[in-house]
Amino acid sequence: MAFPEPLERLIRALERFPGVGPRSAERMALHVLRSDPEEVADLAIALRDARMETVRCEVCGNVTLQSPCRICADPERDAATVCVVEGPREVAKMEDAGAHDGLYHVLMAGFAPREGAAPEARALLSLRRRVDAGTVKEVVLATAPDREGEGAALLVREALQGAAVKVSRLARGVPVGTRLEYLHGEILAEAYRERRSWPLDAASGPSEPGGGPPEG
Ligand SMILES: [Zn+2]
Repeated sequence: MAFPEPLERLIRALERFPGVGPRSAERMALHVLRSDPEEVADLAIALRDARMETVRCEVCGNVTLQSPCRICADPERDAATVCVVEGPREVAKMEDAGAHDGLYHVLMAGFAPREGAAPEARALLSLRRRVDAGTVKEVVLATAPDREGEGAALLVREALQGAAVKVSRLARGVPVGTRLEYLHGEILAEAYRERRSWPLDAASGPSEPGGGPPEG
């Protein structure tokens, strides 16, 4: 053991964060040691509060202070249209864009393949249950048009195989490789308004009904 036990323990805890290797964990831990004790206490409390005072919405899976979340509990929202997004940040982005007045389904944040993450199986299952309950008429896939987003969209489509629901995707106006969270609200709103149907019974891969020009 190179360091005193409490420091060693902190480094090991930090190493468990995504994208943090042993060297970064050590740098972060040494930064904590140099920091003002009150700042460190605030950080510890923030960590605990973020974990203990938030829950996942039992309906949409978003991170919220109470379940069901404010959006799912709002009778003014259009319960027939469910927008599937990758994470809580994308819900916030869609809300800012103001184009979607339906509900959401959150697959959960950050499934970069290198982190071995994927849409949560339970999120896919609960989406299928929501659809089978009969209120949902359209599922709008708003996953990013990059590799992870495409993979997530395919998994969603697989999970909805045979379900009596219309599935659509955001229009391709969304620049390839751009995460939803970085998009300007107006571009996102337009991509939402011009969403295209994405048939569940398509043999393979995303289809582009409407005979649009080939991508290139
Ligand atoms: Zn909810």
